[in-house]
Amino acid sequence: MTVAASPTPHSAQGPQQVVLLGAGHAHVQTLVQLAAQPLPGTVVTLVTPYPRQMYSGMVPGFMAGHYPLDDCVIPLEPLVQRGGIRWVQQSVVGMDAQKQTVLLDDGSTLRFDWLSVNTGPTQDRDVLERAMPGAREHALFVRPIEAFGALWPRVAEMGDARALRVAVIGGGAGGIELALAVRHRLPNAAVTLVSGAEPPAANYPARVQQRLLAELKRRKVTVLQDVAVGLKAGSVQLGCGADLACDVPLLATGAQPPAWLATSGLALDDRGFIAVDMYQRSTSHSRVFAAGDVSTRMDRPLARSGVYAVRAGPALAHNLAAAITGAALQPHQPPAATLNILSCGSRYAVATWHNYSAQGWWVWKWKDWIDRRFMARFQSPK
Ligand SMILES: Cc1cc2nc3c(=O)[nH]c(=O)nc-3n(C[C@H](O)[C@H](O)[C@H](O)COP(=O)(O)OP(=O)(O)OC[C@H]3O[C@@H](n4cnc5c(N)ncnc54)[C@H](O)[C@@H]3O)c2cc1C
Repeated sequence: MTVAASPTPHSAQGPQQVVLLGAGHAHVQTLVQLAAQPLPGTVVTLVTPYPRQMYSGMVPGFMAGHYPLDDCVIPLEPLVQRGGIRWVQQSVVGMDAQKQTVLLDDGSTLRFDWLSVNTGPTQDRDVLERAMPGAREHALFVRPIEAFGALWPRVAEMGDARALRVAVIGGGAGGIELALAVRHRLPNAAVTLVSGAEPPAANYPARVQQRLLAELKRRKVTVLQDVAVGLKAGSVQLGCGADLACDVPLLATGAQPPAWLATSGLALDDRGFIAVDMYQRSTSHSRVFAAGDVSTRMDRPLARSGVYAVRAGPALAHNLAAAITGAALQPHQPPAATLNILSCGSRYAVATWHNYSAQGWWVWKWKDWIDRRFMARFQSPK
């Protein structure tokens, strides 16, 4: 099904201002698309704080020591240059959807005719501090991933000098991969996965849970099914009342929406993420698009995931261009099932697709091939 957008230019004169917030997976693909097919009559501005985009799928491999950091990042400079895009290297801290403005962290305001948001999820320090007093001071946060990527080598160095006690807090796919990556990089460390109220990988099929639990056990990662309720220097307080001795509490709990969305005026889902339709367009403001983990498809709420973020890129680029030029929008159809591969620290991984699963060194090779192929599109664009 397609639908026509009505191109009612907001700017009375001059070019249309198109603002892209964040350089997430969908936007790096949009940048490539804009370089190939520029949008006439527009000025495109990218607002994103870091000079590169770190690919989270390769972060566990970077931590484990399989990849240098450069292999895991997409440098943004070549992409913006090729597309003739204006780049504002700042963070968004506010938005007024009605007035069509965004507020940047230097206090300046940027007006837009068309906006696309791909800023990803955050680990909201205030929210996490309330749930786990001491988190702000003592935790190592996995987001922003750029900051984590800079800190991890220092942790690894400390771990080379003495046996560390590392607690990974969060039993989802990210937490499991991180715990196994720590174990591989720091064989002398005591590694504990604090999985929360549920067992690790609770949202995976039972057979996959068994596979992952067996790998955690085989690799001597202790699993505690308990919630972390506080952090102190040298320990994690657990819901059962016990203290877990810990030098490095690594926080990999579920992500929150950016706080600035709450006052943006955009329609949000019940968790605070941007509500979008099948065209990835805000359900409340038709000049605003959003993709990736910052958004929720209201027609298919379960379509939120990183895989979705990657696959949403080409559709977002098309629909943004179509809306601006008045062409037909196309619904984005996330696949019903996606291939999900979790690395196990060493060059070994577990794959899931529908209810099928497999594991082995060859699965890791497969993941490595997929990840490198994805990155090659951006690292050396033709
Ligand atoms: C260790 C780890 C491993 C993972 N592995 C996988 C995997 O293998 N497969 C998978 O599908 N998912 C994986 N995920 C989940 C995945 O990281 C997210 O689902 C994915 O990053 C979401 O993509 P995104 O494009 O929405 O946002 P992101 O990739 O988070 O990109 C957000 C962008 O916005 C920028 N930004 C952030 N805030 C602002 C702001 N205020 N103003 C301007 N710009 C801003 C950031 O700098 C960044 O450029 C993993 C997560 C972790 C932590």
